[in-house]
Amino acid sequence: MKIYINPSQETWTELSKRPQLELEFLDSSVRNVLNRVKKSGDDALRELTLQYDKVSIQALRVSEEELADAEKTLSPSLKEAIRTAAANIEKFHAAQKRDVLKVETTPGVICWRKGVAIDKVGIYIPGGSAPLFSTVLMLGVPAKLAGCKEVILCSPPDQSGKINAAILFAAKLVGVTKIFKAGGAQAIAAMAFGTQSIPKVHKIFGPGNQYVTKAKQLVMEEGLAIDMPAGPSEVLVMADETAEASFIAADLLSQAEHGEDSQVMLVLNNETLVSSVQNEIAKQLEVLPRKAIAEKSLANSRVVILNDQKTALDFINEYAPEHLILNIKNADAVAAEVINAGSVFIGNYSPEAIGDYASGTNHTLPTNGFAKAFAGVSLESFLKYITFQQLSEEGIKKLGPVVEEMAEAEQLIGHKRAVSVRLEKLKQP
Ligand code: NAD
Repeated sequence: MKIYINPSQETWTELSKRPQLELEFLDSSVRNVLNRVKKSGDDALRELTLQYDKVSIQALRVSEEELADAEKTLSPSLKEAIRTAAANIEKFHAAQKRDVLKVETTPGVICWRKGVAIDKVGIYIPGGSAPLFSTVLMLGVPAKLAGCKEVILCSPPDQSGKINAAILFAAKLVGVTKIFKAGGAQAIAAMAFGTQSIPKVHKIFGPGNQYVTKAKQLVMEEGLAIDMPAGPSEVLVMADETAEASFIAADLLSQAEHGEDSQVMLVLNNETLVSSVQNEIAKQLEVLPRKAIAEKSLANSRVVILNDQKTALDFINEYAPEHLILNIKNADAVAAEVINAGSVFIGNYSPEAIGDYASGTNHTLPTNGFAKAFAGVSLESFLKYITFQQLSEEGIKKLGPVVEEMAEAEQLIGHKRAVSVRLEKLKQP
């Protein structure tokens, strides 16, 4: 990890850059995949699966037998852990339900807003380098709570043409309606356009690598909704002398092992912790099965020393991390000042890994600085809010003249008339 000591504010934009594929290459290769799926549907999916996932598959849909077999292969303790995590995610997301609130803005004018589930949603579950069955819970639980009727799932098959058993078990647990073997940009295209096997949905959810994220951004041009750009994962750990070097190293590595293009950042208030963290990283890296991936990711990662806490906070808000861990003595106070982050972990005993799996918060979060404008997935992500209004005779008499005045000033006489005809009617004996 490269070290930067009190970098000037002019360098922060450069310091906040995440590792990215060459944009032109990414754009053209993903557009090509989208076009192929749009044109040739299932045939294109099979060809692309052979090309990228190195496996030939016939039936794209996972069968009932495959679902039943998957459940048998999992240990009782893993199934129990998945159920516990699902219960916490359900508790946290169920608490996000809102009552319909009717507001009388003017006497006789009543307005309200109702959340209605998006009918058909598609969830993408990454499976390239790790089968992220935890993501099934993060997306499937709120989808069901919201009341989405059709919840389809796509995930890349492994080399034997199967989807990981824990992904299938979690999908069944949360009530996913159909599961398909398709990964990468081609899976996003299939859910966006529909193919012979895979139904078209209205909104696509889920994290993924840069191809997946780019595909989600491109299908928006075709009128699809997406949750957010949730690309290669990242964490920023802010630490001071009250932090444990072994905890910091473990948190950084837990993110670095996600993928070579993941980024981890460490913001310290002085240089004294640097060597102990580096030693811990070296020690823990030795026994990490995904050492090769983590090493590459660490090469993209940075230590930033900022002596002044207010400046450090400004830097963090500029970086807008997906995950922010605060291992500092006044963590609560600093957390209250965070304005740009996906999810915040406060204090030495709140590792990101807990939120990744089981605390209840959602782990599908905005990356690459998108936390400046986007929030992570929540129950609301699966709802659209419809507004309603109902006016009584008193209501239109009171508010009508206001609208007549405004419509005339905007030269929209048709609008004015829609009110005037009613007011005239009410004047009649
Ligand atoms: P993935 O399922 O996202 O991608 C695998 C697919 O990518 C393959 O099926 C293949 O079709 C496609 N692909 C691979 N190489 C390609 C190429 N050269 N051209 C076109 N397509 C290609 O799985 P992954 O690769 O393991 O990535 C998972 C990602 O999800 C990681 O980057 C991880 O950090 C991220 N993630 C993000 C969040 C979040 O909330 N932001 C949460 C979890 C995971």
